[in-house]
Amino acid sequence: MALLTLTRGKYASLHIRPRWPARQIQVDLKALDRLQRVQTKLPQHISLILTRGYEKKASRLGLARKQFRLLGIGAFRLFYSNRRNEIAAIFGSNGHDVDGMHVDVSLLLHGHRVRLLPLGVFTPLFWQQRRVARFSLPLSQVKQALINEGFRIHSNPTESLQIHCDLAA
Ligand SMILES: [Zn+2]
Repeated sequence: MALLTLTRGKYASLHIRPRWPARQIQVDLKALDRLQRVQTKLPQHISLILTRGYEKKASRLGLARKQFRLLGIGAFRLFYSNRRNEIAAIFGSNGHDVDGMHVDVSLLLHGHRVRLLPLGVFTPLFWQQRRVARFSLPLSQVKQALINEGFRIHSNPTESLQIHCDLAA
């Protein structure tokens, strides 16, 4: 794989904002190229943000993610005992530790970050649905543009707001 390492800022037309505690994002050149193509297809007031890419398992970041995951699973079980069937989808590494074709993106609307998950994966479903309703047009435009460039959006509703997507090889 051809990985590129990006730090917070802008790379060509794409915003780069590593999700804490990451300070950089590694992404496959092919996925980055597609994301840039997605950006060119979007209306001017919508900007894509790349927030997560490849994270090597045996790295400080990989270990930190693993610890958060374990803590997160414990808390999620407690708060959402009726959503246990979603734990694998929400807390799995979803390919981020495999290669740079698995990315999370977010969006800026008129320059403002759209927070679809104000409390991260702990955002209650009714609140998620309210956010989705409020931003349904830009969200569907972004998702459609991603799909048109070969990305598959995660099928879990919470992960799909993370916007986790995989580029088919
Ligand atoms: Zn993801």
